[in-house]
Amino acid sequence: MSVSDEKIRSIVKKVLEDSLRQPSAADTAADTASGSDPGWGVFQNMDDAIEAARVAFERFQSFDLQDRRKFTDAVRRVALDHKEEYSRMAVELTKMGRAPHKILKHINVAKNSPGIEYLRPDAWAGKNGLAVDEWSPWGVIGNISPSTHPSPTMLDNIIIQLSAGNTIAFNPHPVAKQLNARVIQHCNQAMTRAGAPENLVTCVAHPTLESAEFMFAHPQTKLLSITGGPAVVKAAMKHSKPIIAAGPGNPPVLVDESADLELAAREISESAAFDNNILCTAEKEVFIVDSVFDRFVQAFSTLGNIKLTGSQMDQLADKALVKGEQEYYISRDFVGRNASVLGRALGMQVSDEVGLLFGETDADHPWVQAEQMTPCLPLVRVRDFEQGLEACIQAEHGFEHTASIFTRDMNRATRYSKRIKTDIVVINGRTSRGDGGDLGEGYFSHTIASPTGHGIVTPRDFCRKRRIMTVGAMRFI
Ligand code: NAD
Repeated sequence: MSVSDEKIRSIVKKVLEDSLRQPSAADTAADTASGSDPGWGVFQNMDDAIEAARVAFERFQSFDLQDRRKFTDAVRRVALDHKEEYSRMAVELTKMGRAPHKILKHINVAKNSPGIEYLRPDAWAGKNGLAVDEWSPWGVIGNISPSTHPSPTMLDNIIIQLSAGNTIAFNPHPVAKQLNARVIQHCNQAMTRAGAPENLVTCVAHPTLESAEFMFAHPQTKLLSITGGPAVVKAAMKHSKPIIAAGPGNPPVLVDESADLELAAREISESAAFDNNILCTAEKEVFIVDSVFDRFVQAFSTLGNIKLTGSQMDQLADKALVKGEQEYYISRDFVGRNASVLGRALGMQVSDEVGLLFGETDADHPWVQAEQMTPCLPLVRVRDFEQGLEACIQAEHGFEHTASIFTRDMNRATRYSKRIKTDIVVINGRTSRGDGGDLGEGYFSHTIASPTGHGIVTPRDFCRKRRIMTVGAMRFI
């Protein structure tokens, strides 16, 4: 039986089309296992994710500020309705942190992420007429979200960047891709129910370094919003387009001899233990003036934290901290694990209830120098305030992220704040009080964009500022 060329061509075309449309068997398995079957903003490739967000942006532009509030309120509702599910999933997928703490992070995002109230225009009226500066969207924003807070960061970014009128294509951290795909789907479902166009937020089902690079370089991503460690910030900054980069931190604390030691111990203990110390803002090393060091250790132990010897701190560092080309970094097997897991690595039985391990080290110890993101806190003895200040500046590595001081001497507090130059400085409180919300004052964001100078971001940071000037009219006084 002979088959015509035409027929063969059509069969080949169909097979090719089908194979292009079909994900690989492994991808299909991953999608099914995760419940993130493509749809509702989840795409098999980044090009489609960006194109869908571009089309959505065209439609989104005809909606006004009150619509944006309605849609982002729907996202806040998603955070509250799914907080337990997302928190459980995050612990299962990333093995980091504690679910009850993650639930609090979702509530915080829903309540305290800034919205359209930050877009009030600036206006000048004078003899020449009226000038108005307005906050205008960029278009599609390419986002990288981290492994450490996969759903809270994504939800916070969605609320802030959609409030600013943009749409978003995400390349989530691969370890949390199923969770992030689910968040995207829930948000699009909730927003379309509230009347929004589809695909205001999109992501790739299977993010890779290649899909991240593709997103950075794509002509339709007009702005990049990057949250992660030094490597991803550096990779994104190579591209000549505007970027808001939330990079690493290594927040130091200084406790001087005038400090309220019980307050300092309590605040630092609760903050560093929260979600097993994976917040970039959380205390990573504490410098204490020698004359009050032992009293601070006593207060810290009374809170149920477990003191390690110097040699146990060294042994744990050998297991958990890896020497890179220039600096130490934490092994993925230890990031955000419970103190009991770290204890087990030393052959110790530590209850799951214990918040922190801690021990005395030198200032140049890897526990101090690495952004270690574990519930194991190094305490360093310093001669006086001046030596402590210099040690804090050195340990912060110029990230300009977060730092804190406990002192009753406000001249020292002022000097510390001026010298350390971080985006967040907290005086006499835990570092997380510096990022607004219920523990602090003002708005909250998961994005503290130190490398690009944006600090704790609001929707304004995701806008282009544009001016309109009416000459000789529109004045009514
Ligand atoms: P990470 O750098 O390991 O990963 C972030 C993302 O970047 C992932 O999707 C990863 O695949 C991708 N990536 C890494 N290198 C890349 C490259 N060369 N090119 C393209 N993509 C690349 O970070 P993480 O473990 O997910 O998050 C923890 C880090 O994020 C910490 O350093 C923490 O301080 C920081 N962080 C900062 C803030 C802030 O507001 N400043 C907030 C949260 C987390």
